[in-house]
Order: sequence, then C-alpha cells, then structure tokens
Amino acid sequence: MGEDAFRAARENMLANQLRARGIHDTRVLDAIRSVPRHEFVPENLRADAYSDTPLPIGSDQTISQPFIVAYMTQLLGLTGREYVLEIGTGSGYQTAVLCKLARYVYSLERYRSLAERAAHTLHRLEIKNVDIHVGDGSQGLPDMAPFDAIIVTAAAPSIPGPLQAQLSPRGGRMVIPVGDAERQHLERVIRNGDRWHFERDIAVKFVPLVGRYGFTPSA
Ligand code: SAH
Repeated sequence: MGEDAFRAARENMLANQLRARGIHDTRVLDAIRSVPRHEFVPENLRADAYSDTPLPIGSDQTISQPFIVAYMTQLLGLTGREYVLEIGTGSGYQTAVLCKLARYVYSLERYRSLAERAAHTLHRLEIKNVDIHVGDGSQGLPDMAPFDAIIVTAAAPSIPGPLQAQLSPRGGRMVIPVGDAERQHLERVIRNGDRWHFERDIAVKFVPLVGRYGFTPSA
C-alpha cells in the first residue's frame, strides 16, 4: 500500500469507526487524522492498520482499537496546555495522538523492547514533546507529578493509589480501565482539590496492567 491508500483508509476510519460512533471533538479527530497509524504496527500487518480492531505488536501486547483510542482521548478533554502521564506506551500510537493535543507527554512502558521501538517511531515522525520511561507504571512517575491528565491503557484491578495521588488538584482527570482480567469498564476520575468525582463509562477489554498496584505477574 502507498501513502495515498493509507490516507484514504484513515479517512474511512475517521468517518465509519469514529464519527459514526459519536467521536465529535474536532481536535481529537484532527489529531488522529495527522498520525500515520500504519507506522505503529508491525510491517506484515500494515494493510490492517486502519481496521476496526486491536492488533498484535509483540511481547503479547496489542495496539488498541482506533475507536478506543479516540474515545479515551476525547474523555480527557485536552486543550493543548496539559502535562499528561500515559501508562502503557505499547506501540506509541496513543502517545502520538496525545502529543498532538497536549503540551508534554510522559509515557511509561514495562517492556524495554516496546518502549525503545515506540521512542524510535515517534522520533522518526518528528514528535518531540514526549519522554518515554521503562518501569512499573502502576506507581506513576512521582518525580514529574502532578499531571493534568493521566491515561492508563492497560487493565487495573482497582485505581492505583499512586496514580490518584499524582493527579493535579486543579481539575486533574484520569481515564483507566478497571475490572478483572477478562473484562473491564472505563472509569473517569476528576479531581478538584479534595473533591473527587468518579464516573463509570463503557465496557472495554485491555491487556492487564502488571505491577505493584496492578495484577501480579503470572510467571
Ligand atoms: N496504548 C498502547 C496500548 C498498549 S497495550 C497502544 O495503542 O499501542 C498495554 C501496554 O501496557 C503494553 O505495552 C504493556 O506492556 C503495558 N503495561 C502493562 N503493565 C504495565 C505497567 N505496570 N507499567 C507500564 N506499562 C505496562
């Protein structure tokens, strides 16, 4: 497939998978339009890069379905001024979308191999407002806290305390899948000083957040 075919596939995805299902934030749609998703999937799966599905990216992990990326990003309501913390870099695709919409993105990934590949892809695409770390994201990144927005793209058994604590008291918001290993729902958390607002959103299925405040490693 050439670049024109990828661009057409991306427009098709925007219309049929995103706008048709209620993604209406034009900043989110424009950000997604500007990120070449095919650059973030393994070479042999590029023809499927704009399909309505998650895809394998190695180390038993997946790049999320485009709709879920758009939906979670829309829930964060980014304006361009935010410092964002992302847990679960994976391919770096969600990271790239966040970089288009926020001031700066810190992203944490448990697997060094995935973190390095994602950093390489983002560098190649000249996305610079990002810092990728290898480590247990369930503990957050206390040195860089507080964050205006936190997004977790792996499933947690409950909201990790350290992430809640690293949310800005001035309207900080977090989106995180919470549940068991089989199924979860998105939880949206909004903080204003000592006032916390919790909102249950749609059902989802993510790979597990493995770490101290997540699931225990199985091996
Ligand atoms: N947003 C990514 C989704 C990747 S899947 C994308 O669209 O490509 C979830 C990622 O979370 C996996 O790469 C997995 O290795 C990572 N992960 C799981 N537990 C983690 C933890 N405790 N800290 C950091 N990353 C973790």
